[in-house]
Amino acid sequence: MSELNLVLLGPPGSGKGTQGERLNEDLRLPYYATGDILRAAVREETELGRTAKRYMDAGDLVPDEVIVGVIAEALDSAEARDGFILDGFPRTTPQAEALDAKLGELGRSVTAVLLIDVDDEEVVRRLGGRRTCEEGGHVFHVDFNPPRQEGVCDIDGSPLLVRDDDKPEVVRKRLATYHEKTEPLIDYYDHRSVLRRIDGAAPPDEVTEVLRRTLATMRLEADEAV
Ligand code: AMP
Repeated sequence: MSELNLVLLGPPGSGKGTQGERLNEDLRLPYYATGDILRAAVREETELGRTAKRYMDAGDLVPDEVIVGVIAEALDSAEARDGFILDGFPRTTPQAEALDAKLGELGRSVTAVLLIDVDDEEVVRRLGGRRTCEEGGHVFHVDFNPPRQEGVCDIDGSPLLVRDDDKPEVVRKRLATYHEKTEPLIDYYDHRSVLRRIDGAAPPDEVTEVLRRTLATMRLEADEAV
């Protein structure tokens, strides 16, 4: 298999970020997490950040054309030539169609969509206890992954905060948005035979192992098909 164009799909709090970073280390492919890109833009008060903030704070999606522009630019870059890992994009059918169109222009297509499946109850439990460091975005959980000192990031010592969009009423809105706008992508990619389902309720290390095995199997299948 010459290139790996990967999409991580799943509800907020399913562990896409954690797994994406691990795959990024394993595969040495650029990792584009649209939520992280948008939060950085909000911090830096760029035009993109100013546009995105009000949608993000309300648990809504930013408009398709805004985020499609961000990703199209990333995919045009030389670093993405051998593949990439997308986390948090696409999130709507028009975004998935725009991704197909963009890759089509480059003579490429999505290699696999890794769906990390977690139910709503678990999402609420995870996001309710999530604490994110103000400076570097490092993530902890009050029960599952507590910092050494309460309220302080182990890595850079900056304060740990509840993300505005991890507040309970916003989490409920984000889940509703996921079911309404993003879940249809499961069928979209299943019909294109690129969907792989992974149980995201398992501990993070187990999920990583399953993801690694899934990718290894895909590579074997692709080699055999040549
Ligand atoms: P995340 O960190 O992936 O949960 O993203 C945080 C927020 O950023 C989301 O709730 C949306 O408001 C916005 N966002 C991230 N990715 C997208 C996308 N592909 N389309 C629209 N909005 C997005």
